[in-house]
Amino acid sequence: MASETGEHGRRRPISVNPLLGEADPVSGVKTVLPRHTLPDAPTTPSTASRLIRDELMLDVNPRLNLATFVTTWMEPEARALIGDAADRNLIDRDEYPATADMEQRCIAMLGRLWNVPGQEHPVGTSTVGSSEACMLGGIALKRRWTHRNAVRHAAGARPNLVMGANAQVCWKKFCNYWDVDARVVPMEGDRFHLGAEQAAEACDENTIGVVAILGSTMDGSYEPVADICLALDALQERTGWHVPVHVDAASGGMIAPFLEPQLEWDFRQARVASINTSGHKYGLVYPGIGWVIWRDGDALPEDLVERVNYLGGDVPTFTLNFSRPGAPVIAQYYNFLRLGHQGYRAVQGALREVAMYLAEQVEALGCFRLLTRGDQLPVFAFATTDDVTRFSVFDVSRRLREFGWLMPAYTFPANRQDLGVLRVVCRNGFSLDLADRLVEDLRSLLPWLRRQPAPFHGPADATSFHH
Ligand SMILES: *Cc1c(COP(=O)(O)O)cnc(C)c1O
Repeated sequence: MASETGEHGRRRPISVNPLLGEADPVSGVKTVLPRHTLPDAPTTPSTASRLIRDELMLDVNPRLNLATFVTTWMEPEARALIGDAADRNLIDRDEYPATADMEQRCIAMLGRLWNVPGQEHPVGTSTVGSSEACMLGGIALKRRWTHRNAVRHAAGARPNLVMGANAQVCWKKFCNYWDVDARVVPMEGDRFHLGAEQAAEACDENTIGVVAILGSTMDGSYEPVADICLALDALQERTGWHVPVHVDAASGGMIAPFLEPQLEWDFRQARVASINTSGHKYGLVYPGIGWVIWRDGDALPEDLVERVNYLGGDVPTFTLNFSRPGAPVIAQYYNFLRLGHQGYRAVQGALREVAMYLAEQVEALGCFRLLTRGDQLPVFAFATTDDVTRFSVFDVSRRLREFGWLMPAYTFPANRQDLGVLRVVCRNGFSLDLADRLVEDLRSLLPWLRRQPAPFHGPADATSFHH
């Protein structure tokens, strides 16, 4: 979370510590730097980098950050590769053909991992993250609908996209930016994600697709992709409407293939048109890499693909950006080579073990009710039991900060806004030992929380959870 600086602090210039050797009153070297205006004169590299490093120290210790899904540690060899490749522009395929080739190899590996039918070279691209990947998936769905419904489209029909209320904010952005109605299926009772029947019921002749999420950012659960596809098959039989599915596998795309190879959530489902994942989540790469793959050329209309020739070569592209760092692609390729199938299975298996263990321990504390158990994504959400009246999940989140833990608390969306939850995301580096520490810290808080006359913090104090 961003550290809060008061109104005064934000207006004050940045003061340079005299120890840095630059702030010498005798020589007249400056002791302050402007905060919001470009400085007039240069500063030495050592001072500039020290100032920035000092400020970055205020960020949360990533090991204790249970909120984010995004990778915070890579091996020194990967870091070195990333540093050495910092100058590579991915779009410049003529200058950096080896980087471009690694991107294609990653796409081929992912395609195979997700059982893309009979293709050595699947249709796909790397992106900045899942948000861009989802945008591209959504655009392809919309364009396909437009092609199939040219007359209705010309008559002003508005396309819609069906998703659960747990959908990540990028889908709301997609609908907003690309003028598509978001058909958001609310949660109901103990159903905290999209159900198959509800998905089919929400569709009509203007539905460009259904988004199925593997798994939900809100509680780590997998949406029932196979059942959703079945329900849409039945819908098509009844009505003739063909509704494709995009699987948002931002997290699960790099979990399920290793831990549940038999789960048919991917291109084995004929209705699945496209799949995205975040390389920087369980792909174990630093921020800046996502992937999207289409079933075949039909799923990605040719009129969306631009060809550019002014960098040399005739290069098809379907991305939102032009220039983009090549290093994240290289880092992903490094992980693929380095870990292989068995390596990923071992890493993800260990994470799931920690998540399930921790969930059990939390449940055993006696005042929390698990909504999920960490047995799908290595993520689980829990609420307080009904007899807890003196403290809220928001109090728990606040008090854990005293120990350095960042554990987000938030309320669920419609129709379960009444439900406040805490969520734990287990990432590589979160060990069983750390899990024990967390449970001990949580246990030590309970007597204090139980002595409160009433909850101190409410939903207005919710911490960010959206990754
Ligand atoms: C994280 C996430 C996103 C957004 O991914 P970024 O890589 O952060 O852009 C989209 N959908 C789901 C389900 C996610 O978990």
